[in-house]
Amino acid sequence: MKTDAVQQCTISTCNKIYDVREVRPYCECGNLLDVAYPSFGSHLRIVGGPPNLRGIFSRRRDYGNNIYDESGVWRFRELINFMGIDTEDLEAMSRVLVSLDGAEGRTRPYQMSKVANHVGMNPENLWLQPEGLNPSGSFKDNGMATGYTHAKMVGALEVICASTGNTSSSAAQYGANEGIEVRVLTPRGKIAPGKFAQPLQYGAHVRETDGKFDDAMEEVLRQGGYIINSVNPFRIEGQKTIIYRALDWLKWEVPDWLVVPGGNLGNAAAFGKALTELYQWGFIDRLPRLVIVNSDKANTLYALYNGRFQGEPLRWNDGNVNEELIEEFYKHLDKLENEDKLPETEATAIAIWKPRSLKKALRSLHHTDGIVIQVGDQDMKDGMAVVGLNGFDCEMASGAVPAGIKQLVEQDIIHRDDTVVGILTGRLKDPQQIVDYHRNPKNLFANPPM
Ligand SMILES: *Cc1c(COP(=O)(O)O)cnc(C)c1O
Ligand SMILES: [Zn+2]
Repeated sequence: MKTDAVQQCTISTCNKIYDVREVRPYCECGNLLDVAYPSFGSHLRIVGGPPNLRGIFSRRRDYGNNIYDESGVWRFRELINFMGIDTEDLEAMSRVLVSLDGAEGRTRPYQMSKVANHVGMNPENLWLQPEGLNPSGSFKDNGMATGYTHAKMVGALEVICASTGNTSSSAAQYGANEGIEVRVLTPRGKIAPGKFAQPLQYGAHVRETDGKFDDAMEEVLRQGGYIINSVNPFRIEGQKTIIYRALDWLKWEVPDWLVVPGGNLGNAAAFGKALTELYQWGFIDRLPRLVIVNSDKANTLYALYNGRFQGEPLRWNDGNVNEELIEEFYKHLDKLENEDKLPETEATAIAIWKPRSLKKALRSLHHTDGIVIQVGDQDMKDGMAVVGLNGFDCEMASGAVPAGIKQLVEQDIIHRDDTVVGILTGRLKDPQQIVDYHRNPKNLFANPPM
């Protein structure tokens, strides 16, 4: 089943189309691009429509007999086929698709009773999907599988990224596996030790930069090359499969809520795209409400979306986003930084002030009637700790998910018998932070050593 994908501007008043082989994160008009599948509707009929494909996806999960069926990304290849390959041709797949031998995306949601008790929900209705179980320890592997597939399609010999840690770890792991050089820019001193170690270990060229993640990201865009950050629309395609797996496990029963931490907002972009496409293609008949959880110390989306800055809520508005408001907010942030007043969260993975997928996230929120909330460091740490009591681990930024659900249950926005899927984005790579938490008996879930 071949498709004819294109890259298309996210803003409908521009709507410019680029060939799928062109390498450019931004449209001429300065906005991000989407991968689009203009003829997918008609292709869908050829394979018997959504019910038939849904069956194929779950059979691949249960009986996968090649690495592309085992991979939690590539078993959904019909829905992300920008490669335009025959999705049953093993030979073609092994030539084109990049995979860590089928190991990425082998995740699914779990019920976690201790977390449910903590947040005040019915244990049967709370599902948490630990993306930390990916090979490099975070959800980023979903996007790297597709991002690298595109890099290989266009013959890139080297990729570059800015990173708060998990992007560079994942990029370096795939680069090592594919024989592609990886250049990494990370903000000095603002990255968890485990995440700093990984790219070094996988042979990437690591450069420590001054300032914060946003400055490293700007530098990467200035340098150019094959950028493997989430501004790359092909990375977004892989991250859509996080949602496919959750829905596949829930037998395509759509949950009421979908909760995710927000940093650079690549996931927020991917989840909205995944859901609206599934709706359009007839896989689901309604959409869950998306909840994006910011740190209260890096809360750009929260502040703008909820009108906490200059009183005007920032909305998608059919692509006519109020860019002046964003610029004003960024000036305000620059001023805070110059005065050394920019707050610093210990949840380094979401310590991002100028999220590159801000507009795409607004679009996702628009389509899903979404909400944006913020949580504090202590609540994220408690969230991380209570996930541990269920025998899973997640990092502090992922602790934003239980923390956010708890806040919304307390506000009576999420009800205890609503169905909620939360994405635990990464696993622990900062063991000292966790030991410190447990040594302090004042912490809610402290488990001090004797
Ligand atoms: C990258 C990352 C995030 C932020 O995801 P975005 O898609 O950039 O919003 C959150 N949690 C973890 C563990 C991450 O690695
Ligand atoms: Zn454009």
